[in-house]
Formats: sequence, structure tokens, C-alpha cells
Amino acid sequence: MKKVGPTRGLGVRYGSTVRKRYMKVMIELKKPHKCPQCGFNRVKRESVGIWKCKKCEFTFAGGAYTPVTKLGVVAKRAAKGAPVEETAKAVAAVESTTEEESNE
Ligand SMILES: [Zn+2]
Repeated sequence: MKKVGPTRGLGVRYGSTVRKRYMKVMIELKKPHKCPQCGFNRVKRESVGIWKCKKCEFTFAGGAYTPVTKLGVVAKRAAKGAPVEETAKAVAAVESTTEEESNE
């Protein structure tokens, strides 16, 4: 007989580390994000990599799970002609927030 029940889920199969990461990604995915245009926390994911602000209808491309990616920050800074040191600082700031999970 096949066992069907709570033990047959995603959780057990992938272990606690992956489950924790998955949870983190899902939380990140579901929480409202700040709109780069109007500043309101009303940005929701439209589809993978596409984000839309429910307040001002601003639509933009971003990361698959969060609207801002390291690469996006660098690209934006570079496009604005920001100094290299400042770009590096911005990347470091993003890294410190997105890679804290590796310390667990
Ligand atoms: Zn907006």
C-alpha cells in the first residue's frame, strides 16, 4: 500500500536546509516590495521576472523571486554613470542582505 499523508510532501524529501531556503524565497516572493517609481510597498510579481506596482501601475523587470537583483543594481548604477566605488558599495549592501542565509 502506498503511504499518503503529511510525510509525503516536499518537506521531508528535501531536508530542512532546502525547506528553509524555500520558505525564505516564498516569503520574499509574497511580501510586498517597494516600487522604484512611487515608493509605495505595492509591488507584486506579475510573472517570473516581471514586477508590477499596484499603486501606480509601474511595470518593470527584476529577479525571479525579488524585484532587485545584484546584477540589476550594478546595471542601474552603471547606466547612471555612478562611480565604481559607489557601485561596489551598492553591491556589497545587496550581498549582505541576500546572502545572510549562507551563514546559517
Ligand atoms: Zn508605484
